[in-house]
Formats: sequence, C-alpha cells, structure tokens
Amino acid sequence: MPIRSFLPLLLILFLSGCHSDQPGANTTVPHDIGIWPTPQNPLAGNKDLAFTDQINAILSRLTLEQKVGQMVQPQLDAITPDEVRDYSIGSVLNGGNAYANNDKYASVSDWVNVVDAYYRASMDDSNGRTPIPITWGTDAVHGQNKVIGATIFPHNVGLGAAHDPELMRKIGKITAVEMLVTGVDWTFAPSVAVVRDDRWGRTYESFSEDPEMVELLTRPYIEGLQGVAGTSSFMNDDHVMATAKHFIGDGGTADGVDRGDNLASEEELYRIHGMGYVAAIEAGVLTIMVSHSMWHGVRMHGSKYLLTDVLKQKMGFDGFLVGDWNSHALVKGCSEDSCPQAINAGLDMVMVTRDWKDFIKNTVQQVRDGVIPESRIDDAVTRILRAKFRAGLFAKGPPSKRKYADKLQYFGSPEHRKVARQAVRESLVLLKNNNSLLPLSPRLNVLVAGDGADNIGKQAGGWTISWRGAGAKNTDFPNGESILSGIKNTLEKAGGTVIYNERGKYTKKPDVAIVTFGEDPYAEWFGDIKHLSYQNFTNRDARLLEKLKGDGIPVIALFISGRPLWVNRAINASDAFVAVWLPGTEGGGIADVLFRKPDGSINYDFTGKLAFSWPMYPSQTSLNRGDGNYHPLFPYGYGLTYQDKKQLATLELREDIPKSAKDPTLKLFEGRAIVPWFAGLADQDGFSVYLGGEVARQYLKVRETDRSTQGDAMELEWLGGGDGTFILVNIDENQDYSYYLDEKSAITMAVKLEQKATGPLLMRMGRYDDLDKSIDISAGINTLPVDQWQAFSVDLACFAGKGVDFRHISSPFALLSRDALKLQLADIRILPGLGGKATLSCTP
Ligand code: BGC
Ligand code: BGC
Repeated sequence: MPIRSFLPLLLILFLSGCHSDQPGANTTVPHDIGIWPTPQNPLAGNKDLAFTDQINAILSRLTLEQKVGQMVQPQLDAITPDEVRDYSIGSVLNGGNAYANNDKYASVSDWVNVVDAYYRASMDDSNGRTPIPITWGTDAVHGQNKVIGATIFPHNVGLGAAHDPELMRKIGKITAVEMLVTGVDWTFAPSVAVVRDDRWGRTYESFSEDPEMVELLTRPYIEGLQGVAGTSSFMNDDHVMATAKHFIGDGGTADGVDRGDNLASEEELYRIHGMGYVAAIEAGVLTIMVSHSMWHGVRMHGSKYLLTDVLKQKMGFDGFLVGDWNSHALVKGCSEDSCPQAINAGLDMVMVTRDWKDFIKNTVQQVRDGVIPESRIDDAVTRILRAKFRAGLFAKGPPSKRKYADKLQYFGSPEHRKVARQAVRESLVLLKNNNSLLPLSPRLNVLVAGDGADNIGKQAGGWTISWRGAGAKNTDFPNGESILSGIKNTLEKAGGTVIYNERGKYTKKPDVAIVTFGEDPYAEWFGDIKHLSYQNFTNRDARLLEKLKGDGIPVIALFISGRPLWVNRAINASDAFVAVWLPGTEGGGIADVLFRKPDGSINYDFTGKLAFSWPMYPSQTSLNRGDGNYHPLFPYGYGLTYQDKKQLATLELREDIPKSAKDPTLKLFEGRAIVPWFAGLADQDGFSVYLGGEVARQYLKVRETDRSTQGDAMELEWLGGGDGTFILVNIDENQDYSYYLDEKSAITMAVKLEQKATGPLLMRMGRYDDLDKSIDISAGINTLPVDQWQAFSVDLACFAGKGVDFRHISSPFALLSRDALKLQLADIRILPGLGGKATLSCTP
C-alpha cells in the first residue's frame, strides 16, 4: 500500500500516544543554572507552615500504594468512583472528549453530580481509610468551555491583542465561577507559551510572541482564577486552582512542530520561554504542567535538570508538577504504564489516562526495587497535599455543597457575557481601513456573507465543547451569539437591514458587504501547518471578496484565525480588514465596534494591537519583534484606530513557498460537510439533510459516530431493497475541480467496514443533475478488514475516464447502493498527487 493511504492510521496511532523521540539534536548542552532567577513565592509563609504537620500526619498513615495513587490522574471514562476510593487516586480529569455520563450535552447538574460522586468516594473514611479530597482537572482554557451554555472568551491569541491586565483578572474570575458552578476546581490554564513559529497548531493558546506580553497578562489571569496570594481572596469559595503550562519551551519547537524539539540556548529558554513561569510563581500558581516537547532532544518529562534543579530548586516552585496526557510515555525507555524516569526527574502527578492501574503497580515495584527513592514519592505527595491544603480542599466540602454549585444564574450569565463581549471588542485588530470605510452607519443595507458569519463553533475554535472543536452547531451554544446575529441586533434597532447569504448572493445591491471567513477549528498537532499562506489552493474566500468588490460593493473582511496568516489577496480585495482571532461566544462584540451609534457618534473604537507580527510573505513563519532582519507586513503593536487615515496600497502577491509546501488537501467532509457542500440522503422520493445525529430514509440510515474525536465520523447503513444515496451536494455550486484532476489527485476517506457489500456500491461525482457516471467500489471495499479504520481512495482519473466534467462539480461525492451494506466513513477529502497510488487507481 502506498505510504499516503496509511496516513489516517498513523493519526490513530498518534492519538493513542505512540510517539517516539524524533532524532533531534543531541542531548549534551552544557547547563548553567546561574541563568535562572529566584522569583518571590508569595505562598511560602506562616500559614503554609501550619500545613506541614497535617501533611506529615497524612503521609504517615498512607501505604506506598496509596501514596502512588495520589500521584496519578486518570481520565474520567477510565475510572469509577469506587476505584478512586480503592486506589486513593489524587485527581481525575476530563480531557479531550470525556463528558459527564459520556454525554456531550450533559447538563450543569449532571456535571456536579458526577464530580461529586468521585469526590465523595475520595472522602470515604470507613474502615480507617484516610480521606483525601480529589481535585478535578479540566481544560477550561477560554471559559468552562466543555460544558454547554458556558461563557466562552476569546482564545489567548485575541487576549494578547487586547493587552488589558484588568480584563484578564475579570476573565479568570468568571472562568473560576463558571467552573465551580459545574463542580470543577482545577483548570489546566493558562498556557504561558511564547510562540516563535506561527505554524504551531497551538499558536492561538498563546498571548504573544513576546515574553513581555505573556508576563504582563499571566499574573492577573492567575490571580483572577486563584485569587490574590497572601490575601483572604486566595482560593476562597470563588476560586479554582490554575496551571501554568507547558513547562518549558513548547512555543519554541523547531519549525513550530507540536511536541517537537526546542533548540534554544539556555539563556533564550529563560528570557523567552521562562517569563510566564516567573509571573506564575509570583502569582502563587499552585500547579505547573510539563510540556510534551523536548529541549535539545531531551523530553521535558524526563529532564531532571529543568524540572527539579531549575524549576523547583532554583526558582523555588513548591506546588506540584502535573504531567501532560501520557507524555511520560514519550521519555526514552518509558511506556504509558511505567516511567520511573519521569518521577525521578521531578514529575509529581502523572496524567496516566488509561493504564493507571498498571502504572501504580509498576511504580510501587520500582520503589521497592530501589529504582525510585521513597523520599521522591514522599516529596511528590507532600507537594500534592500542600496544594490541596492551600486550595482549601480539605475544608470546602463536596463540590455540590460549595457556594456556586449548580447555580445556573452564574453560568453563561448576562454579566459574564458582558465581560466576554468587552474582551471581543478589545481583541479586534484593524489592519486596513481605506477611505475610512469604518465605522459604518447602522442604517445601511448590509450584505453579510462568508462561512464564519453564522457559525459560533468556528468563531470559538478548538477546545470548545469538544477537544478539536470541530462540528459544533449554533444550537450547542444556547447562550452564545454569532457575528451575524450581533450585526442583525445592532441594525434592527437603528433602522438598517441585513441580507445574509453565506456565498454572497444578493438580489438588491447592498450598501456594503461584511464577509467573515478563516480557519476552521483545530487543536494541538491537527493545527500544525507548513507555511502561512491561507487557502492558497482554492482561494475560495479571496474569490468571494473579489467578486463582491468587482460588483462595486465596499467590502469589510472579518478574518477568523488562530494566528496571523498570509492573506494578501484577501486584504487587497477588501476595503477594510479586521483580524478577529477566535472571539468565542460573544459575536456581538464585533458589531459594537464596526457600527456607529444611531446618533452618528463612534460607539467603540478599535484598541487591539498585534501581539504577533503579521507576515509579508508566507515563508515568514518565524517572525518576531526584535528579530535582526524584521520585515513584517504589520509589525508587533500594529493596529489602526478610527483616527488613523492610513491608506494601504495594493500588496504584493508573491508566494515565496515551494509548491510542494502548499497544503494540497481539499476537505469535503470532516464531522460535517465542509462549506459549500451539504451532506444528505437521497432516494427517488426526496432528500434529507444530514447535519449530525441520526437521519433515516427508506433504504439508508446515517448516524453520527466517533473515530478519533466526538462526532467526526458517521455510520451509513443500507438496508437493501431499493436505491439509497449518501451525497455531498450544493445545487447552487458549479466548482471547477480541473486543477485537482491535473494534479493527479484522488478522493480519499477513512472507512470502517462493518458489513460487506452484497451488490454494487457506486461512487459518483459531477453535476448534481447528471450524476450517472459511476465507479463500482464494492470489490475494493470488501477486501478491507472488517471493523478497522482504513484509508480508501479512488483516483480522480477513474472518473475522468467515465466522462465526468471536472469544470462543473456540484456534487463532489456520492455513494449509492441498492443492496445491504454497513460502513463508517470519516474525513473525505481530495488529495493531489495521490492518484497513481490510490486504492483504486486509473493513472498508468
Ligand atoms: C494537552 C494539554 C491538556 C491535556 C489534558 C494535552 O494533550 O497538551 O494542554 O491540558 O492534554 O487534556
Ligand atoms: C485527548 C486530549 C489530549 C489529546 C492529545 C486527545 O485524545 O482527548 O485531551 O489533549 O489527545 O494528547
């Protein structure tokens, strides 16, 4: 099989944590501990000393097994409350796509009940058992973002642009309260990464490329979450534990590769990547998460020098270090269920998501065998208990009885949303405003277009409801507002009108067009890219802007993105261009700034400034303030206001990247049909749209399923007895795919065969009203192993051979069967170059 068709399989392996060390640079960089500072830790004081006796008393009662139990953190769906009690587990997390009751739509009360059940188990003191409260960890990285109805703030990339420390404090405070409403008391936030190469898929989790900005925002944010160390607000009933992550250098890996190797000198490691930790320690952060990445070839989870010598000893961090998702397994010689190296290096709590029972068994044995000194275990547990005491967990009682538990009036509340909306306004950066097109009168006739205009999931990005954030629907945000709806509300009050058409179609010529477009949600390595050129294959969005401009309509572009990207063609095609980043649920904040008040005065001016330099060329992937050879399109700190009268001249369109580096994939279906396509079930009687969930027609049923993330796949079940078709289609489209044919592409998908085809299975593409040119793929499909995800691809040349006209595609994919068959499908896309190596190839 050709290498490329193995890709989905590789991704699955990746998800299960089977990474190995890359052949990075070698391990021997001389260390110089003198470089590192000794920040003031505001927690070390008298009150803290009082805990020492209590901690020692607990330690003396715990068996070795129980101590190690405190040191592991399993994933919610891999552990029961009884097991938390039986193994004295220290913490449980709901990472990724784990939900209370395994239900993405779990209510706030469901969450409280689930967290409570685990807490109560941890506090069981029957038969002389020593009760120790668990703490519950979650990735509340922009609000309590996994729970339906939460207030979701802009991602950090936008908060850096807002550069407002007091706002950070408020956001931290609200996030804490909304977490506590759901019973959760520990967030894996903030990320204090300083991103030096914007190709990294986690750029949006970073405030800035500049350590100064990260330092400025970290402290107030942590103080918002935890309260102010040394005062009575610290970890009182309004606060949760914070985590500074990912220690250290995650934002500086070579080529911006997620989990890659940071080759900075030790001086740079401190001056650039270390500043957030200085601020975090000074804010009294209770935990720090260790990075998946490496420094000069050494995995952070195995670096005794950085974890123990530098962070704990020199910098005086006396909270606990939590590992990242099975990342200990990446250390040489380790696996998910065994890693004495990481514990000896200084890791205190290990995020062992599944194999935690074996991990405990192995670790206990390693202590007995003298591989891990028992004093290291005692130190780790002391640190965990100290954080739990400092957090007041021994005194706060069950999560369900705490101050905010289950109080819906504090969840997605109008007051909270107001602050999120303020954050949206402050995060917007105006990059172009020729002829002072903005601010607009609210009495205009406005055309709203683009696939981001009415898509709260897209405007919220990754780490929203699900891990990757893909496939969220507007109804998943009962307290949220899309950008479109914000514009409508503003205009309706003032007498303007809105026509909304995603593809920019209109009958009466509008006064202006506002087009919202940009990156679709992603998380972690799913967001890694090779260069910064946006949509350089299809240029779909730039073409939409060009069409509107060509019609003589003034165009405002709103660019949703997790990082600066090279979008010169789109900037040229717009009169005004705004970087809106990933604003979260309060899309209304955008209309607040774009439109004047009804009396004509300015409502809100732009105050956002770039905290990441904006590239002049796609190759400027590592472009940072202070660089010797600094030639950005828009420098760090840039951002127009309504007082600026700057005219931006037409930009150069030189794409200085090798053709091979361009992202060649055309996505058709990823959890849902990708715009402009709709997914649906068709038969002779009609058509039903599929948006997820379950849809059935007489001969075909389609049901949402999970492959690597929640809802990213679907199961198609043909019942037999008549024709049923699954189809991606848009009858208003007429797309020219000849490019893909010329580039010898194949249409690829991940398939999990469940029940073999009993007759022909016909794949089709072309014009929706002329879809009769078929390739029978049943034989190929039937050779796939049953119940295993496999890549399956068909060469576009096969369709060309049948006479499909690639200049007119209104249905890029359809599957028809008359006979019974069952399979799952995910990730349907077109990949240039794959034609000759496709599962079914017609290229000689
Ligand atoms: C991410 C962390 C996150 C953790 C738990 C990891 O893979 O790197 O940022 O906190 O998962 O979900
Ligand atoms: C988990 C995330 C985690 C990611 C990376 C996913 O399967 O659900 O929480 O961050 O893996 O390891």
